[in-house]
Amino acid sequence: MHIGMAGAGLSCAVIARDLAEAGHRVSIFEQRDHIAGNCHTERDAGTGVMLHAYGPHIFHTDDAEVWDYVNRFARFVPYVNRVKARTQDRVFSLPINLLTINQFFGRTMSPSEARAFIEAQADTTIEEPANFEEQALRFVGRDLYEAFFLGYTRKQWGVEPTEIPASILKRLPVRFSYDDNYFAHRFQGMPEDGYTAMIGNILDHENISVALNTKFDTARKDAFDHVFWSGPVDAYFGHRYGRLKYRTLDFERVTGDGDVQGCAVMNYCDESVPYTRITEHKHFSPWEDHEGSVLFREYSRACGEDDIPYYPIHKVAGDDTLERYTEAAAAEQGVTFVGRLGTYRYMDMDVTIRAAFDTLGSWKMAHAA
Ligand code: UDP
Repeated sequence: MHIGMAGAGLSCAVIARDLAEAGHRVSIFEQRDHIAGNCHTERDAGTGVMLHAYGPHIFHTDDAEVWDYVNRFARFVPYVNRVKARTQDRVFSLPINLLTINQFFGRTMSPSEARAFIEAQADTTIEEPANFEEQALRFVGRDLYEAFFLGYTRKQWGVEPTEIPASILKRLPVRFSYDDNYFAHRFQGMPEDGYTAMIGNILDHENISVALNTKFDTARKDAFDHVFWSGPVDAYFGHRYGRLKYRTLDFERVTGDGDVQGCAVMNYCDESVPYTRITEHKHFSPWEDHEGSVLFREYSRACGEDDIPYYPIHKVAGDDTLERYTEAAAAEQGVTFVGRLGTYRYMDMDVTIRAAFDTLGSWKMAHAA
C-alpha cells in the first residue's frame, strides 16, 4: 500500500517505520523545515550546546517495550531529571519531597513525621478531588499549594487551577523521602545525539520518504491507500466546529559563560515573575563540555492561529467542541488521527510511542482482511 502521513514527529515516525518494514511505501509531509516535531533538538551554532528547540524533553518510561524500542534507534545516556523551584525568594527541590518539606517549614522531620504533618495540613474533607486545586489541597495542603502550584499553574494554563483537571497535578509525585527524581519511572535517559537524530534513524528506511516544508494537502488524501494525520484534528476539518484551545510557549534566549544557573530546569513559581521556568540546555547533556551556555526563559500564553500549539487545554467543565471533532475523526474513512495534536492529548514521549504501537495494532487488524 501507499501510505500518506501528515507530520514527521514521533507518532508518525514510529508508525511509518513499522509499515515500511512490512513492505508498505510511506510518504510523509512535514510543514516545518525539520523532522521530530516538538522533540526537535539542534546544536547551537555559537556554543555547540545541544538545544531542545521546543522546550525540554526528558525520556522516561515504565514501559520496557517502549524503552527497548528507543534504544534500538539511539544510544541513551542515563539522565535523572532533578528540578529546582524558586518561590518566595528561596530555592527548593521539586517534586515536593522530604527536603522540600523540611526546608519549607524549617523542620527536621523523618518520613513518617512528615507524612503525618502534611496529612494534618491537607483538606481531608475532599474525598474525590474534582480539579487541580482540590488535588493539591487534598495531598499537600494550602501552604505548599500556594507556594509551588498556584502561581505557576495560573501562568502555565492561563486559567484558575479550579478549572483544570486533577490529572495535571497527578503528573507530579509527592515524596516523603529525599528522592528528588522528578519522575517515578524505571527507565530514564537522554539520547546521546539528540531526539532529531533518533527520529531520523527511525525514519531511515528505503520505503519512507519525507518532504520537508510541505503541507499535507487534504484534498489529495485519496491519492493514498490510507492517511495518518498527526496535525491538529480541528485543522484537518477546516475548524468547522471552531478552534480547539492550546497554550503556546515563547522562548527568550539568554547566553552566558560557564554554568549560569547550576541546573537544567529552574521553575519560577511566583506569579510576579512572568516566565514559568528557565532551562539551561548544556545540563541536559552533562557528558558534554561547552564553555558557552544557552538558556531559555519560557513564557506560556494562549495559542493564536499562527502560533505553534503545545499544550491542549482540557478544562473540567469543557464544551463539546472536542467531542464533535472526535466523532468526526472516528467517522472519517481512510484517515487515522494520531499523536498529541491529532488526538488532542497531553502526552509524554513514551505514551506517544505506546499509542503509536496501539494504533498500528488496530490498523493491522482492520487491514488484514
Ligand atoms: N506545576 C506547578 N509548579 C511547578 C511545576 C509544575 O504548578 O513548579 C504544575 C503545572 O500546572 C504544570 C503541571 O504541574 O502544568 C505539570 O507539571 P509538569 O512538570 O509535568 O509539566 P510539563 O513539564 O509537562 O510542562
